[in-house]
Amino acid sequence: MQMESLHQDETIVALATAYGVGAVGMVRLSGKGSIAIANKVFRGPDLSAVQSHTVHYGHIHNKDKVIDEVMVTVFKAPRTYTREDIVEIGCHGSTFIQDQLIRVLIDQGARLATQGEFTLRAFLNGRIDLSQAEAVNDLIHSENEMSRDIALGQMKGGFKDQISALRQQLIKFASLVELELDFSEEDVEFADRSQLEDLILSTVKVLTGLIQSFEFGNVVRNGVPTAIVGRPNAGKSTLLNALLNEERAIVSQIEGTTRDTIEETMTLNGITFRFIDTAGIRQGEDEIEVIGIEKTFEKIREAKLVVYLFDAAIMDSEELQKDIDDLAIDQQHLIIVANKTDKEGAENWAKDFDAYNTIGISAKEKAQIEDLQKQLVDLVLSEQIDTSTTIITNSRHYQALSEAKHALEDVLNAMHAGLTGDLLAIDIRKSLHALGNITGEISTDDLLDSIFRDFCIGK
Ligand code: GDP
Repeated sequence: MQMESLHQDETIVALATAYGVGAVGMVRLSGKGSIAIANKVFRGPDLSAVQSHTVHYGHIHNKDKVIDEVMVTVFKAPRTYTREDIVEIGCHGSTFIQDQLIRVLIDQGARLATQGEFTLRAFLNGRIDLSQAEAVNDLIHSENEMSRDIALGQMKGGFKDQISALRQQLIKFASLVELELDFSEEDVEFADRSQLEDLILSTVKVLTGLIQSFEFGNVVRNGVPTAIVGRPNAGKSTLLNALLNEERAIVSQIEGTTRDTIEETMTLNGITFRFIDTAGIRQGEDEIEVIGIEKTFEKIREAKLVVYLFDAAIMDSEELQKDIDDLAIDQQHLIIVANKTDKEGAENWAKDFDAYNTIGISAKEKAQIEDLQKQLVDLVLSEQIDTSTTIITNSRHYQALSEAKHALEDVLNAMHAGLTGDLLAIDIRKSLHALGNITGEISTDDLLDSIFRDFCIGK
Protein backbone atom coordinates (compact mmCIF):
# COMPACT_ATOMS: atom_id res chain seq x y z
CA MET A 1 0.00 0.00 0.00
CA GLN A 2 1.35 3.37 -0.92
CA MET A 3 0.65 6.40 1.17
CA GLU A 4 -1.44 7.83 -1.66
CA SER A 5 -4.08 5.81 0.14
CA LEU A 6 -4.17 8.65 2.59
CA HIS A 7 -5.57 10.89 -0.15
CA GLN A 8 -9.04 10.80 1.14
CA ASP A 9 -10.54 13.19 -1.36
CA GLU A 10 -10.45 10.43 -3.95
CA THR A 11 -13.33 8.04 -4.39
CA ILE A 12 -12.25 4.43 -4.20
CA VAL A 13 -13.85 1.36 -5.70
CA ALA A 14 -13.33 -2.36 -5.26
CA LEU A 15 -15.05 -5.67 -5.37
CA ALA A 16 -16.15 -6.35 -1.80
CA THR A 17 -17.06 -9.98 -2.28
CA ALA A 18 -14.51 -12.68 -3.09
CA TYR A 19 -13.27 -12.71 -6.66
CA GLY A 20 -14.73 -15.58 -8.56
CA VAL A 21 -17.99 -16.94 -9.85
CA GLY A 22 -20.89 -16.87 -7.38
CA ALA A 23 -24.59 -16.14 -7.26
CA VAL A 24 -24.05 -12.46 -6.50
CA GLY A 25 -21.20 -10.03 -6.13
CA MET A 26 -20.85 -6.63 -4.59
CA VAL A 27 -18.88 -3.64 -5.80
CA ARG A 28 -18.33 -0.91 -3.29
CA LEU A 29 -17.54 2.77 -3.70
CA SER A 30 -16.44 5.06 -0.90
CA GLY A 31 -15.69 8.77 -0.91
CA LYS A 32 -17.18 12.15 -1.70
CA GLY A 33 -17.84 11.27 -5.34
CA SER A 34 -19.44 7.88 -4.74
CA ILE A 35 -23.03 8.90 -5.39
CA ALA A 36 -22.25 11.15 -8.35
CA ILE A 37 -20.05 8.53 -9.99
CA ALA A 38 -22.60 5.75 -9.50
CA ASN A 39 -25.34 8.05 -10.82
CA LYS A 40 -23.50 8.55 -14.12
CA VAL A 41 -23.69 4.84 -14.99
CA PHE A 42 -26.92 3.88 -13.23
CA ARG A 43 -30.31 3.89 -14.95
CA GLY A 44 -32.94 3.96 -12.26
CA PRO A 45 -33.92 6.49 -9.60
CA ASP A 46 -31.69 9.54 -9.18
CA LEU A 47 -29.28 8.38 -6.47
CA SER A 48 -28.47 11.92 -5.37
CA ALA A 49 -32.13 12.38 -4.44
CA VAL A 50 -32.73 9.17 -2.52
CA GLN A 51 -32.60 8.77 1.24
CA SER A 52 -29.61 7.29 2.99
CA HIS A 53 -29.55 3.55 3.68
CA THR A 54 -32.02 2.67 0.91
CA VAL A 55 -31.84 0.11 -1.88
CA HIS A 56 -32.72 0.81 -5.52
CA TYR A 57 -33.31 -1.33 -8.53
CA GLY A 58 -31.89 -0.44 -11.93
CA HIS A 59 -29.26 -1.12 -14.58
CA ILE A 60 -25.60 -0.22 -14.96
CA HIS A 61 -24.77 1.06 -18.41
CA ASN A 62 -21.58 1.56 -20.32
CA LYS A 63 -22.61 4.16 -22.86
CA ASP A 64 -25.55 2.39 -24.52
CA LYS A 65 -24.72 -1.13 -23.43
CA VAL A 66 -26.32 -2.65 -20.35
CA ILE A 67 -23.66 -4.26 -18.16
CA ASP A 68 -25.91 -5.72 -15.50
CA GLU A 69 -29.19 -5.54 -13.68
CA VAL A 70 -28.34 -4.41 -10.15
CA MET A 71 -29.53 -3.42 -6.69
CA VAL A 72 -27.82 -0.25 -5.50
CA THR A 73 -27.62 0.69 -1.83
CA VAL A 74 -26.81 4.27 -0.92
CA PHE A 75 -25.24 5.09 2.44
CA LYS A 76 -24.68 8.76 3.13
CA ALA A 77 -21.94 9.96 5.47
CA PRO A 78 -21.40 9.85 8.35
CA ARG A 79 -23.34 6.72 9.37
CA THR A 80 -21.30 4.39 7.16
CA TYR A 81 -18.44 1.94 7.43
CA THR A 82 -15.87 4.54 6.36
CA ARG A 83 -17.83 7.58 7.54
CA GLU A 84 -17.82 8.66 3.89
CA ASP A 85 -20.57 8.33 1.31
CA ILE A 86 -20.72 4.69 0.27
CA VAL A 87 -22.52 3.11 -2.65
CA GLU A 88 -22.78 -0.64 -2.84
CA ILE A 89 -23.76 -2.20 -6.11
CA GLY A 90 -25.14 -5.70 -5.84
CA CYS A 91 -24.53 -7.36 -9.19
CA HIS A 92 -24.42 -10.85 -10.64
CA GLY A 93 -21.56 -13.06 -9.59
CA SER A 94 -19.72 -13.17 -12.87
CA THR A 95 -16.11 -12.06 -12.92
CA PHE A 96 -16.66 -10.56 -16.36
CA ILE A 97 -19.56 -8.40 -15.18
CA GLN A 98 -17.70 -7.35 -12.06
CA ASP A 99 -14.61 -6.35 -14.02
CA GLN A 100 -16.76 -4.36 -16.45
CA LEU A 101 -18.60 -2.66 -13.62
CA ILE A 102 -15.42 -1.60 -11.85
CA ARG A 103 -13.99 -0.41 -15.15
CA VAL A 104 -16.92 1.93 -15.93
CA LEU A 105 -16.76 3.32 -12.40
CA ILE A 106 -13.05 4.00 -12.83
CA ASP A 107 -13.82 5.64 -16.19
CA GLN A 108 -16.17 7.96 -14.33
CA GLY A 109 -13.50 9.02 -11.84
CA ALA A 110 -13.19 6.40 -9.14
CA ARG A 111 -9.82 4.87 -8.28
CA LEU A 112 -9.23 1.20 -7.53
CA ALA A 113 -8.86 0.80 -3.76
CA THR A 114 -5.66 -0.56 -2.31
CA GLN A 115 -5.66 -3.39 0.22
CA GLY A 116 -7.52 -2.56 3.38
CA GLU A 117 -8.21 0.97 2.20
CA PHE A 118 -11.88 0.99 3.21
CA THR A 119 -10.91 -0.02 6.73
CA LEU A 120 -7.99 2.42 6.68
CA ARG A 121 -10.46 5.21 5.97
CA ALA A 122 -12.71 4.01 8.76
CA PHE A 123 -9.69 4.34 11.03
CA LEU A 124 -8.52 7.69 9.66
CA ASN A 125 -12.03 9.07 9.99
CA GLY A 126 -12.12 7.98 13.60
CA ARG A 127 -14.83 5.39 13.31
CA ILE A 128 -12.67 2.57 14.60
CA ASP A 129 -9.34 2.41 16.42
CA LEU A 130 -6.36 0.49 15.23
CA SER A 131 -6.97 -2.63 17.28
CA GLN A 132 -10.49 -2.74 15.89
CA ALA A 133 -9.19 -2.32 12.36
CA GLU A 134 -6.89 -5.24 12.89
CA ALA A 135 -9.73 -7.24 14.34
CA VAL A 136 -11.63 -6.69 11.08
CA ASN A 137 -8.74 -8.30 9.31
CA ASP A 138 -8.63 -11.17 11.77
CA LEU A 139 -12.34 -11.63 11.25
CA ILE A 140 -11.97 -11.90 7.50
CA HIS A 141 -9.23 -14.45 7.93
CA SER A 142 -10.70 -16.32 10.88
CA GLU A 143 -10.95 -20.01 10.21
CA ASN A 144 -12.69 -21.23 13.28
CA GLU A 145 -15.43 -20.18 15.62
CA MET A 146 -13.23 -19.22 18.53
CA SER A 147 -10.96 -16.91 16.58
CA ARG A 148 -14.06 -15.24 15.19
CA ASP A 149 -15.38 -14.68 18.71
CA ILE A 150 -12.11 -13.14 19.80
CA ALA A 151 -11.94 -10.87 16.77
CA LEU A 152 -15.52 -9.74 17.38
CA GLY A 153 -14.67 -9.03 21.00
CA GLN A 154 -11.76 -6.85 19.95
CA MET A 155 -13.87 -5.00 17.41
CA LYS A 156 -16.15 -3.89 20.18
CA GLY A 157 -13.12 -2.03 21.44
CA GLY A 158 -12.99 -3.29 25.03
CA PHE A 159 -9.32 -3.94 24.76
CA LYS A 160 -8.63 -0.44 23.54
CA ASP A 161 -10.58 1.17 26.37
CA GLN A 162 -8.53 -0.69 28.93
CA ILE A 163 -5.24 0.40 27.36
CA SER A 164 -6.45 3.96 26.83
CA ALA A 165 -7.49 4.35 30.46
CA LEU A 166 -4.09 3.18 31.70
CA ARG A 167 -2.39 5.42 29.23
CA GLN A 168 -4.34 8.46 30.38
CA GLN A 169 -3.26 7.90 33.97
CA LEU A 170 0.33 7.48 32.92
CA ILE A 171 0.19 10.67 30.86
CA LYS A 172 -0.85 12.51 33.99
CA PHE A 173 2.19 11.26 35.85
CA ALA A 174 4.49 11.84 32.93
CA SER A 175 3.46 15.47 32.78
CA LEU A 176 3.85 15.89 36.53
CA VAL A 177 7.33 14.38 36.42
CA GLU A 178 8.17 16.60 33.45
CA LEU A 179 6.86 19.62 35.28
CA GLU A 180 9.32 18.89 38.06
CA LEU A 181 12.11 19.34 35.54
CA ASP A 182 11.12 22.98 35.12
CA PHE A 183 11.62 23.46 38.84
CA SER A 184 14.75 21.39 39.12
CA GLU A 185 16.54 24.09 41.13
CA GLU A 186 13.89 23.90 43.80
CA ASP A 187 13.93 20.12 44.27
CA VAL A 188 10.15 19.63 44.31
CA GLU A 189 8.13 16.47 43.63
CA PHE A 190 4.74 17.00 42.00
CA ALA A 191 4.34 13.37 41.14
CA ASP A 192 3.73 11.33 44.26
CA ARG A 193 6.25 8.50 43.88
CA SER A 194 4.30 5.88 45.82
CA GLN A 195 1.14 6.58 43.82
CA LEU A 196 3.16 6.37 40.65
CA GLU A 197 4.60 3.07 41.78
CA ASP A 198 1.12 1.69 42.52
CA LEU A 199 -0.12 2.76 39.12
CA ILE A 200 2.86 1.19 37.39
CA LEU A 201 2.48 -2.05 39.32
CA SER A 202 -1.18 -2.36 38.46
CA THR A 203 -0.50 -1.45 34.83
CA VAL A 204 2.23 -4.06 34.62
CA LYS A 205 -0.23 -6.59 36.00
CA VAL A 206 -2.80 -5.82 33.31
CA LEU A 207 -0.13 -5.90 30.63
CA THR A 208 1.19 -9.22 31.89
CA GLY A 209 -2.29 -10.74 31.67
CA LEU A 210 -2.71 -9.51 28.11
CA ILE A 211 0.75 -10.72 27.16
CA GLN A 212 0.03 -14.16 28.57
CA SER A 213 -3.22 -14.32 26.68
CA PHE A 214 -1.20 -14.06 23.49
CA GLU A 215 -0.04 -17.62 23.80
CA PHE A 216 -3.64 -18.77 23.97
CA GLY A 217 -4.62 -16.34 21.23
CA ASN A 218 -1.94 -17.81 19.06
CA VAL A 219 -3.14 -21.29 19.72
CA VAL A 220 -6.67 -20.28 18.80
CA ARG A 221 -5.54 -18.65 15.63
CA ASN A 222 -3.06 -21.20 14.44
CA GLY A 223 -4.40 -24.36 15.99
CA VAL A 224 -3.27 -26.36 19.00
CA PRO A 225 -0.16 -28.30 18.04
CA THR A 226 -0.99 -31.83 19.14
CA ALA A 227 1.53 -34.65 18.88
CA ILE A 228 0.43 -38.25 18.69
CA VAL A 229 3.28 -40.36 20.01
CA GLY A 230 3.83 -43.97 20.94
CA ARG A 231 5.85 -47.03 20.08
CA PRO A 232 5.78 -48.40 16.56
CA ASN A 233 2.55 -50.24 15.83
CA ALA A 234 0.69 -48.69 18.76
CA GLY A 235 -1.86 -47.51 16.20
CA LYS A 236 -0.88 -43.86 15.76
CA SER A 237 -1.69 -43.69 12.06
CA THR A 238 -4.92 -45.57 12.60
CA LEU A 239 -5.88 -43.13 15.35
CA LEU A 240 -5.05 -40.14 13.22
CA ASN A 241 -7.23 -41.54 10.47
CA ALA A 242 -10.03 -42.16 12.92
CA LEU A 243 -9.77 -38.62 14.28
CA LEU A 244 -9.72 -37.09 10.86
CA ASN A 245 -12.12 -39.67 9.57
CA GLU A 246 -10.10 -39.96 6.43
CA GLU A 247 -7.50 -42.32 5.09
CA ARG A 248 -4.71 -39.83 4.85
CA ALA A 249 -1.92 -41.28 6.94
CA ILE A 250 -0.66 -44.57 5.58
CA VAL A 251 -1.46 -47.46 7.87
CA SER A 252 0.92 -50.35 7.75
CA GLN A 253 1.72 -53.48 9.69
CA ILE A 254 5.47 -53.11 9.33
CA GLU A 255 6.88 -51.42 12.43
CA GLY A 256 8.12 -47.90 12.13
CA THR A 257 6.82 -47.03 8.70
CA THR A 258 5.45 -43.63 9.61
CA ARG A 259 8.87 -42.18 9.18
CA ASP A 260 8.27 -38.66 8.31
CA THR A 261 5.97 -36.34 10.15
CA ILE A 262 2.58 -35.50 8.73
CA GLU A 263 0.39 -32.59 9.81
CA GLU A 264 -3.38 -32.59 9.65
CA THR A 265 -5.91 -30.30 11.23
CA MET A 266 -9.31 -30.86 12.73
CA THR A 267 -11.69 -28.34 14.28
CA LEU A 268 -13.67 -29.35 17.36
CA ASN A 269 -15.96 -27.01 19.27
CA GLY A 270 -14.36 -24.07 17.54
CA ILE A 271 -10.82 -25.11 18.43
CA THR A 272 -8.48 -26.18 15.70
CA PHE A 273 -6.06 -28.99 16.50
CA ARG A 274 -2.99 -29.42 14.40
CA PHE A 275 -2.13 -33.08 14.59
CA ILE A 276 1.40 -34.11 14.25
CA ASP A 277 1.80 -37.76 13.48
CA THR A 278 5.26 -38.93 14.34
CA ALA A 279 7.55 -41.86 14.09
CA GLY A 280 7.79 -44.20 17.08
CA ILE A 281 9.59 -43.17 20.23
CA ARG A 282 11.66 -46.35 20.66
CA GLN A 283 15.19 -46.65 19.38
CA GLY A 284 15.19 -47.84 15.79
CA GLU A 285 17.76 -49.99 14.05
CA ASP A 286 18.35 -48.12 10.84
CA GLU A 287 19.38 -44.53 10.40
CA ILE A 288 16.16 -43.21 8.92
CA GLU A 289 14.33 -44.48 11.94
CA VAL A 290 16.76 -42.71 14.27
CA ILE A 291 16.18 -39.45 12.44
CA GLY A 292 12.46 -40.08 12.83
CA ILE A 293 12.90 -40.47 16.57
CA GLU A 294 14.83 -37.23 16.86
CA LYS A 295 12.10 -35.51 14.91
CA THR A 296 9.52 -36.99 17.22
CA PHE A 297 11.12 -35.46 20.28
CA GLU A 298 11.47 -32.18 18.45
CA LYS A 299 7.75 -32.25 17.70
CA ILE A 300 6.93 -33.20 21.27
CA ARG A 301 8.74 -30.10 22.47
CA GLU A 302 6.76 -27.93 20.04
CA ALA A 303 3.44 -29.54 20.89
CA LYS A 304 0.96 -28.03 23.24
CA LEU A 305 -0.80 -31.33 23.77
CA VAL A 306 0.64 -34.80 23.61
CA VAL A 307 -1.46 -37.87 22.98
CA TYR A 308 0.55 -40.88 24.10
CA LEU A 309 -0.79 -44.03 22.54
CA PHE A 310 0.04 -47.62 23.45
CA ASP A 311 -1.11 -51.10 22.56
CA ALA A 312 -3.08 -52.07 25.66
CA ALA A 313 -2.98 -55.76 24.78
CA ILE A 314 0.78 -56.10 24.97
CA MET A 315 2.09 -53.24 27.10
CA ASP A 316 2.68 -53.72 30.83
CA SER A 317 2.46 -50.85 33.24
CA GLU A 318 6.19 -50.82 33.94
CA GLU A 319 7.00 -50.24 30.27
CA LEU A 320 4.25 -47.71 30.07
CA GLN A 321 5.64 -45.80 33.03
CA LYS A 322 9.06 -45.83 31.40
CA ASP A 323 7.69 -44.23 28.23
CA ILE A 324 5.80 -41.62 30.18
CA ASP A 325 8.93 -40.74 32.15
CA ASP A 326 10.89 -40.48 28.90
CA LEU A 327 8.35 -38.08 27.45
CA ALA A 328 8.76 -35.74 30.43
CA ILE A 329 5.50 -33.91 29.68
CA ASP A 330 3.56 -32.34 32.51
CA GLN A 331 0.27 -34.04 33.24
CA GLN A 332 -1.98 -31.24 32.10
CA HIS A 333 -0.67 -31.53 28.58
CA LEU A 334 -0.70 -35.27 28.28
CA ILE A 335 -3.45 -37.75 27.47
CA ILE A 336 -2.56 -41.40 27.89
CA VAL A 337 -4.55 -43.43 25.41
CA ALA A 338 -4.81 -47.20 25.66
CA ASN A 339 -5.46 -48.45 22.17
CA LYS A 340 -6.73 -51.77 20.84
CA THR A 341 -9.22 -52.28 23.66
CA ASP A 342 -11.07 -54.52 21.24
CA LYS A 343 -8.33 -57.11 21.70
CA GLU A 344 -8.15 -59.67 24.48
CA GLY A 345 -5.97 -58.84 27.47
CA ALA A 346 -6.42 -55.09 27.03
CA GLU A 347 -8.46 -54.49 30.18
CA ASN A 348 -5.97 -53.99 32.97
CA TRP A 349 -3.85 -51.12 31.83
CA ALA A 350 -5.44 -48.23 33.67
CA LYS A 351 -5.16 -49.12 37.30
CA ASP A 352 -1.78 -47.52 38.00
CA PHE A 353 -2.42 -44.32 36.09
CA ASP A 354 -5.27 -42.64 37.91
CA ALA A 355 -3.33 -39.44 38.24
CA TYR A 356 -3.21 -38.92 34.48
CA ASN A 357 -5.77 -38.11 31.84
CA THR A 358 -6.44 -41.56 30.50
CA ILE A 359 -8.85 -43.15 28.08
CA GLY A 360 -9.26 -46.51 26.43
CA ILE A 361 -10.11 -46.60 22.74
CA SER A 362 -10.06 -48.80 19.73
CA ALA A 363 -8.70 -46.79 16.85
CA LYS A 364 -9.45 -49.57 14.42
CA GLU A 365 -13.08 -49.98 15.49
CA LYS A 366 -13.44 -46.22 15.96
CA ALA A 367 -14.63 -46.80 19.51
CA GLN A 368 -14.45 -43.99 22.10
CA ILE A 369 -12.97 -41.63 19.52
CA GLU A 370 -15.54 -39.00 20.40
CA ASP A 371 -14.67 -39.30 24.09
CA LEU A 372 -11.05 -38.72 23.22
CA GLN A 373 -12.00 -35.68 21.17
CA LYS A 374 -13.95 -34.34 24.11
CA GLN A 375 -10.93 -34.80 26.37
CA LEU A 376 -8.78 -32.87 23.92
CA VAL A 377 -11.21 -29.96 23.89
CA ASP A 378 -11.58 -30.01 27.68
CA LEU A 379 -7.83 -29.91 28.16
CA VAL A 380 -7.49 -26.80 26.02
CA LEU A 381 -10.43 -25.07 27.63
CA SER A 382 -9.58 -26.04 31.22
CA GLU A 383 -6.34 -24.16 30.99
CA GLN A 384 -7.78 -21.10 29.51
CA ILE A 385 -9.56 -17.97 30.07
CA ASP A 386 -13.04 -17.67 28.64
CA THR A 387 -13.24 -15.86 25.37
CA SER A 388 -15.22 -12.96 26.75
CA THR A 389 -12.05 -11.65 28.37
CA THR A 390 -9.53 -9.91 26.21
CA ILE A 391 -7.23 -12.21 24.34
CA ILE A 392 -4.36 -10.88 22.28
CA THR A 393 -4.07 -12.55 18.91
CA ASN A 394 -2.00 -10.02 17.13
CA SER A 395 1.78 -10.16 17.22
CA ARG A 396 2.04 -6.40 16.82
CA HIS A 397 -0.07 -5.88 19.92
CA TYR A 398 1.99 -8.45 21.72
CA GLN A 399 5.18 -6.65 20.83
CA ALA A 400 3.83 -3.26 21.85
CA LEU A 401 2.53 -4.66 25.14
CA SER A 402 5.87 -6.27 25.86
CA GLU A 403 7.70 -3.04 25.07
CA ALA A 404 5.38 -1.09 27.31
CA LYS A 405 5.89 -3.58 30.09
CA HIS A 406 9.67 -3.43 29.80
CA ALA A 407 9.64 0.35 29.77
CA LEU A 408 7.46 0.40 32.89
CA GLU A 409 9.77 -2.04 34.62
CA ASP A 410 12.61 0.32 33.75
CA VAL A 411 10.67 3.14 35.40
CA LEU A 412 10.29 1.04 38.54
CA ASN A 413 13.98 0.18 38.57
CA ALA A 414 14.88 3.81 37.99
CA MET A 415 12.67 4.85 40.88
CA HIS A 416 14.17 2.24 43.18
CA ALA A 417 17.65 3.31 42.17
CA GLY A 418 16.69 6.89 43.00
CA LEU A 419 17.27 8.18 39.47
CA THR A 420 16.31 11.71 38.62
CA GLY A 421 13.01 12.80 37.12
CA ASP A 422 14.40 13.45 33.66
CA LEU A 423 15.47 9.82 33.27
CA LEU A 424 12.19 8.65 34.71
CA ALA A 425 10.26 10.77 32.25
CA ILE A 426 12.06 9.16 29.31
CA ASP A 427 11.00 5.66 30.37
CA ILE A 428 7.43 6.72 31.04
CA ARG A 429 7.27 8.31 27.59
CA LYS A 430 8.61 5.13 26.05
CA SER A 431 5.85 3.07 27.61
CA LEU A 432 3.24 5.63 26.56
CA HIS A 433 4.50 5.39 23.04
CA ALA A 434 4.27 1.60 23.02
CA LEU A 435 0.73 1.68 24.40
CA GLY A 436 -0.27 4.40 21.95
CA ASN A 437 0.90 2.23 19.09
CA ILE A 438 -1.78 -0.30 19.95
CA THR A 439 -4.75 2.00 19.83
CA GLY A 440 -3.38 4.22 17.10
CA GLU A 441 -3.19 7.29 19.29
CA ILE A 442 0.36 7.46 18.04
CA SER A 443 0.89 6.08 14.59
CA THR A 444 3.32 6.55 11.81
CA ASP A 445 2.78 5.96 8.13
CA ASP A 446 5.05 2.95 8.33
CA LEU A 447 2.94 1.43 11.03
CA LEU A 448 -0.30 1.98 9.11
CA ASP A 449 1.32 0.63 6.02
CA SER A 450 2.40 -2.58 7.70
CA ILE A 451 -1.02 -3.16 9.23
CA PHE A 452 -3.21 -2.52 6.23
CA ARG A 453 -0.95 -4.25 3.77
CA ASP A 454 -2.28 -7.70 4.51
CA PHE A 455 -5.91 -6.74 4.17
CA CYS A 456 -7.82 -7.86 1.13
CA ILE A 457 -8.71 -5.30 -1.46
CA GLY A 458 -12.32 -4.34 -0.99
CA LYS A 459 -12.16 -4.22 2.78
P1 GDP B 1 1.66 -46.86 14.16
O1 GDP B 1 2.94 -47.54 13.82
O2 GDP B 1 1.62 -46.49 15.60
O3 GDP B 1 1.29 -45.73 13.26
O4 GDP B 1 0.51 -47.99 14.01
P2 GDP B 1 -0.54 -48.20 12.83
O5 GDP B 1 -1.63 -47.22 12.92
O6 GDP B 1 0.18 -48.38 11.55
O7 GDP B 1 -1.17 -49.59 13.31
C1 GDP B 1 -0.40 -50.76 13.46
C2 GDP B 1 -1.30 -51.98 13.37
O8 GDP B 1 -2.19 -52.00 14.49
C3 GDP B 1 -2.18 -52.00 12.13
O9 GDP B 1 -2.25 -53.32 11.68
C4 GDP B 1 -3.53 -51.56 12.65
O10 GDP B 1 -4.59 -52.08 11.89
C5 GDP B 1 -3.53 -52.13 14.04
N1 GDP B 1 -4.42 -51.39 14.93
C6 GDP B 1 -4.46 -50.05 15.12
N2 GDP B 1 -5.43 -49.73 16.03
C7 GDP B 1 -6.02 -50.89 16.39
C8 GDP B 1 -7.09 -51.21 17.28
O11 GDP B 1 -7.71 -50.37 17.92
N3 GDP B 1 -7.39 -52.52 17.43
C9 GDP B 1 -6.73 -53.50 16.75
N4 GDP B 1 -7.12 -54.76 16.94
N5 GDP B 1 -5.73 -53.24 15.89
C10 GDP B 1 -5.37 -51.96 15.70
